[in-house]
Amino acid sequence: VVILALETSCDDTSAAVVVDGTEILSNIISSQVDVHGKFGGVVPEEASRKHLELINHVINEALSVAGLSFKDLDAIAVTYGPGLVGALLVGVSAAKAIAYGLDLPLIGINHIEGHIYANFLSEPNIAFPMICLVVSGGHTDLVLLKKHGCYHVEGKTRDDAAGEAFDKVARSMGLSYPGGPLIDRLAKGGNPDAITFPKAYLEEGSLDFSFSGLKSAVINYIHRADQNNKEVNKVDLAAGFQKAVTDVLIDKTLNAAKKAGVSTILLAGGVAANTRLRTDLSIKAAKTNHRVIYPPPVLCTDNAAMIAGAAYYKYLRSAFAPLTLNAVPDLKLGEERYEGRFRGK
Ligand code: ATP
Ligand code: FE
Repeated sequence: VVILALETSCDDTSAAVVVDGTEILSNIISSQVDVHGKFGGVVPEEASRKHLELINHVINEALSVAGLSFKDLDAIAVTYGPGLVGALLVGVSAAKAIAYGLDLPLIGINHIEGHIYANFLSEPNIAFPMICLVVSGGHTDLVLLKKHGCYHVEGKTRDDAAGEAFDKVARSMGLSYPGGPLIDRLAKGGNPDAITFPKAYLEEGSLDFSFSGLKSAVINYIHRADQNNKEVNKVDLAAGFQKAVTDVLIDKTLNAAKKAGVSTILLAGGVAANTRLRTDLSIKAAKTNHRVIYPPPVLCTDNAAMIAGAAYYKYLRSAFAPLTLNAVPDLKLGEERYEGRFRGK
């Protein structure tokens, strides 16, 4: 089954061709970091314009790298939410046009479902049930997966997402956008115990997260140093902040796995590329005999291969979308919203 997938939910224009949910023939990602970097974040209007400029080139490139043409495709998949409405519409419109023109089945994918399925691209036979920690620019969710397409959110952030905390702290340190990878790199040269920041565990047994207090603590630390004309040790700051975030993520993920009685743990989303999160979770999980799986870094951040991966399992269930598919900026994990109708979980 050859699927062409499009992903335009935020600031990356991406198209990929994937065979049978595992074989990535191409995964073209055109980043708009140069456009948004100077503003320190994504400018929605600019993102939509850029997607429109890039989408046809990216699709042609994905087919040409795969060595295929439109007639070789079995289905077309697209992210239809959550995300920026104007950005999503570019991908959704392009996918609908291709599906209509070539009479191909159309598959609508939830962006977060795509992040989770990045794991199945290289590990298609992971045994259910499993716990997935989704940590991205807009989400921090602990999800229990009992079977394909079935999601139970066991915990989530009450304020900032983990990636958002990384980006905001990076910005206050004078680093460019997106700051997560830069903090990761800086932290490698720092002492994580030199500066201690607060970790929010919330109520006993809670699987929810909160990162706004930590973010404020770091910003206050920088302001205090400024006022006292003291130089901030950036590598120690990055290492201390990263430790505070990842310690909480790791402890709660292991608790969620124990509570659900599952032995497999997945990481998903951009922050899943974080070195400390990957290595520390693997080390701690080994002690309790939990198996940890995470995608290669390039498949953690936004890309269309993960959308094609998720689409393959929907294809097998014939879970197709109508040509009236629309962008749904607030789409929830596990819900489908087609033709204005709503099918919750
Ligand atoms: P969402 O998926 O919730 O809609 P998004 O698509 O904007 O949000 P992703 O592309 O999944 O988010 O992830 C981007 C985030 O991941 C950014 O916040 C970025 O700073 C963070 N990130 C990427 N690499 C790393 C890393 N190595 N360490 C920490 N954070 C990272
Ligand atoms: Fe994302």
